[in-house]
Formats: sequence, C-alpha cells, structure tokens
Amino acid sequence: MIYLDYSATTPISFDVLDSYDKASKEFIGNPNSLHSLGVKSKELMNSATKQISELLGVQESEILYTSGATESNNMALIGTCFANQKKGNHILVSKLEHPSIYGICAYLEKLGFEVEYVNHTEDGLVDFEDLKNKMRPTTVLVSICSVNSELGVRQPIKTIRQIIKKENPNVIFHSDMTQALGKIPVNLKDVDLASFSIHKIYGPKGIGLLYKNREVRLAPILFGSNKEDLKPGTPAVPLIAAAAKAIRLSLQDLDRKETFIRKLNEKIVEEVSILNDVVVNSTKYSIPHILNMSLLNIRPETFIHALEEYEIYIGTNTACASGELSASVMALYEDKKRASTTIRISLSYLTTSEEITRFLNCFQIVYKKLNSLMDD
Ligand code: PMP
Repeated sequence: MIYLDYSATTPISFDVLDSYDKASKEFIGNPNSLHSLGVKSKELMNSATKQISELLGVQESEILYTSGATESNNMALIGTCFANQKKGNHILVSKLEHPSIYGICAYLEKLGFEVEYVNHTEDGLVDFEDLKNKMRPTTVLVSICSVNSELGVRQPIKTIRQIIKKENPNVIFHSDMTQALGKIPVNLKDVDLASFSIHKIYGPKGIGLLYKNREVRLAPILFGSNKEDLKPGTPAVPLIAAAAKAIRLSLQDLDRKETFIRKLNEKIVEEVSILNDVVVNSTKYSIPHILNMSLLNIRPETFIHALEEYEIYIGTNTACASGELSASVMALYEDKKRASTTIRISLSYLTTSEEITRFLNCFQIVYKKLNSLMDD
C-alpha cells in the first residue's frame, strides 16, 4: 500500500499509541473526581498540558482541548463574535479557508454578522492592501488559515498580524493552523487564537486544541456543570496524553523532514508536468507536503479509484463530494474545469523514494489509459 493522503489524516505513531494505551489502562479515574484515582488522572493531564504549553511556547491556561480543529474553529469564531457583539458585527476571512470556517461564517451571517472576504495575490497570498482597506471600526475578528489544506499555500502570519493590529489593536486574530503544525514552525505569539487537530500529526482522531491568548474573551458555545468552562465534560485524559506525545514528536527535525519532502515533491512535479492536460495548482508559496494538480480531462474520483487498484491512495479537494468544485482552486484560478478536476497528493517524512517511483509509474499508466478513453 502507498498512502499519499497525509493531509486528510495520518496513521497514528505507535509511540503515541503506547502513550494512549498506558494512560487508558493506568489512569482510569475522572480527573474531576476527588479521590486518589481522580487526582492521579488530573496530574497526568496537567503534566501533558505543561508539556504542550512548553512545546508551543504558551501558558498552560491558554490551551483548551477540543475534539478537533472543526470544534476549535467553532469555539474561536462563534465565541469571539458573541463575546464582542457590542463592539461590532464585522468579520474578515480569506478565500482560502477550510470549509469548516465557511460553514461557521454562514451560521454567523444568519445571526446578523457581516462576513467579508479578503482578496489574495495570484499566488494565493493575502493581499495586504485589501486586508487593510477592508478593516472597519466594527471589525471584531480576522481569521486567516496558516496553511491552506488543498493547495498548501502558506500565509505570512506575522505580517498579517502586524497589519491587523496596526489598524485596530482590539481586533482578534485567529488562524487555523491545522495543516501547519508538524510541517512548518508555528509561532503562537503571532495570533490570539489558533486551531489544531492531532490526527494530522500522527496522533489519535478525536482530539484537537484551541490556543486562546489569556487576554482573549470567548463566549461559551457549550454549556455544562461549570459555568467558567468553555469545554465542559469529562476531559479525555488518554487522548490528551497522546496529544502531548504527538506534538513533541511532530516538532522534531522539521527542516530535515521538509528538505526530504521537497525532493519528493519536485520529482513528482517534474514527471507529471510532461503529461498533456495536467496543470499544477500549488503555487510558489505552497509547502512541499501538499501538491495539488488538475487532470483536465479526467474526473478525480475515476482517477482515484483507478489508482486504488494499485493500492495507492491520494486525495481530492477537501469537500470530497463528487463533481464539486475545489473552493481553493476556484478562488485562485477562477476556472471551473480546473477546479472540478483536482487531485491532492500529500506527502510525509514517512514517504519513501521507492514509493514515489512506483506511484509515478502507476500514475502514468492510469493517466494514459483514462486520458485516451476521454479522447474516444
Ligand atoms: N482546518 C484545516 C486546515 C484542515 O485541514 C482540517 C481537516 N481537513 C480541519 C480544519 C478540520 O479538522 P477536523 O476534521 O479534524 O476537525
């Protein structure tokens, strides 16, 4: 099997699974219980939180556990808008966000918030002038994805923060960093809120993080026994212990992993660029881990299932529904054909050169077969 869909999700690392297994077996208490088993679980949770906060360079109280980035995005966007309703109702987001952000924006619009979309350059970078011009005295939140999940475009988060805060220091800056963590360095000093999903970094599914700067006030969107608690309910201690391990491992050797992945990416681009009617959609600002291209004459689902015959697994656009346009490719190229024929190859430090050689052989066989069928 050759897995090339690492941006959709990653296989869990066995080291991380060991942490989960150990915590599940040895820490059975509810951390909210007063007895010694509860205290033991609470201590494990606190030490995991301490480790995560040190790894991410933030305070322990600034880490909230969620079920994944979708939930983190909901808590961040809705929580900020509800908490700041008296200040304004205007939100700015980029055109290269994850669909979960647009789903939340649609909900907020129904409630009377006004959502505006910041333009980008032809390579996908946020247009700084447009961002500046669209900021209003009533703007309460700007949300810009650090690394786009379809095209891999990486935004200059520090510069974007400077522009936002210069215009209005009270505006809250959120970034969805789900595709950034473990691939590029992330600096939480550049943002007020940030979302993460641990299954993207070789951790278990079902746990995410929301970084919330201590100065930021969020209105709760979930309610439970403790009024102060933004994420009420029993903490998932084994998942939290596993998250700490996954984050620690994911931050090791970032440069070396990126250099290796870039070579694999370049090899694929070199070979597929020779083929007729294949266009690469990733731009010069895309991280090498995510390679997006359009096979202009082939339906992505047909191609993906044909590759599956060789036990090779790649991705389509994030929406994944057959016949749907890739929102990011459409935003960047405004070309329906290109946006309806995208495939995404996402690479890992676990990918080998041999896998890429075999992938390219199979790619060419399948491509030539399906492309010739289209000619008939
Ligand atoms: N944001 C980005 C950038 C993502 O890539 C994803 C996962 N595709 C999400 C949010 C949602 O993550 P989850 O499905 O784990 O909630």
